[in-house]
Amino acid sequence: MRQFERASYLFCPAPLTPRGFTHEELIDGTELRRLVPAVAESCPGGVVSRRDGAAQPARTTTAFRRKAEQLGTTIREGVLATNIRKEQGRWHVDVGAETFAAPVLVNAAGAWAGRIAALLGEPVPVETIAPMLMITSPVAHFIDPVVILRGRKLSFKQFPNGTVLIGGGHLATPDQDRNETVLDWRKLAESARTVAELFEVMRGATITRAWAGIEARMRDDIPVFGPSALHEGLYHQFGFSAHGFQLGPGAGAVMAELIVHGGTQTRISGLSIARFSQ
Ligand SMILES: Cc1cc2nc3c(=O)[nH]c(=O)nc-3n(C[C@H](O)[C@H](O)[C@H](O)COP(=O)(O)OP(=O)(O)OC[C@H]3O[C@@H](n4cnc5c(N)ncnc54)[C@H](O)[C@@H]3O)c2cc1C
Repeated sequence: MRQFERASYLFCPAPLTPRGFTHEELIDGTELRRLVPAVAESCPGGVVSRRDGAAQPARTTTAFRRKAEQLGTTIREGVLATNIRKEQGRWHVDVGAETFAAPVLVNAAGAWAGRIAALLGEPVPVETIAPMLMITSPVAHFIDPVVILRGRKLSFKQFPNGTVLIGGGHLATPDQDRNETVLDWRKLAESARTVAELFEVMRGATITRAWAGIEARMRDDIPVFGPSALHEGLYHQFGFSAHGFQLGPGAGAVMAELIVHGGTQTRISGLSIARFSQ
């Protein structure tokens, strides 16, 4: 993923306090303008994470999929897994006309994982959210790092073809049963105005499309991760609260350790599903 490596910047008017975040560095307006020359004069400085990175979701997940298939994973798409049950010590799941059985089951169903956990006797306070993104017409290259604005909801990055991806946390209305969303165009317009305000170069760009995805958000914004508190052989991995793309590969590696070796050196006790019932 090296070709996608970029630094991220947070425009932050308040000074950072030392809290052990050694990967982030407070920079003044001069350094900010050296790194992001197109930014408006009104931005006083920022925070840079010089070794941070970005990856394209479609390419990244395809790479993971190919590797998993090479290693013998069976993938079924476009069909619901239903009727999850434990019989004679093994978990059974119906997938269309097929039934799969295994000693271990991982509940990694994203926004729908809370329903599965509840069906299996472990209800948790999980909300369904739908973060929105939009993409612009191509603009001459003007920025390399991914930018996140503090104070107003905005993040964006420019692709090699000149288009700019604009996000930042404004939410659409999710319809979980239909796996559909209704976009909030007022909020998208707000993001577009902020971009135009901060980056003059963007004022001539048009929005070519916008979309949203459905995601599970926990009450404490921390994922549910680890063994079930009730059932042997059941593991939960959901509620990434809009941070699951960056956490996914690490979370998957730790989950594999838990299942194969029965434990991990990574501190995960605070992520247990039991935190909501204690
Ligand atoms: C617009 C947008 C932008 C985002 N940007 C970022 C970002 O910049 N950085 C970041 O870290 N994160 C980002 N996220 C969040 C990130 O995408 C999620 O946190 C992450 O995808 C969650 O991973 P997951 O595997 O838990 O769930 P998902 O990716 O939702 O995967 C769960 C899968 O399970 C399937 N499923 C559910 N129930 C069933 C069933 N019964 N049978 C069969 N299949 C089922 C679903 O269809 C889904 O494919 C963004 C999310 C959105 C929507």
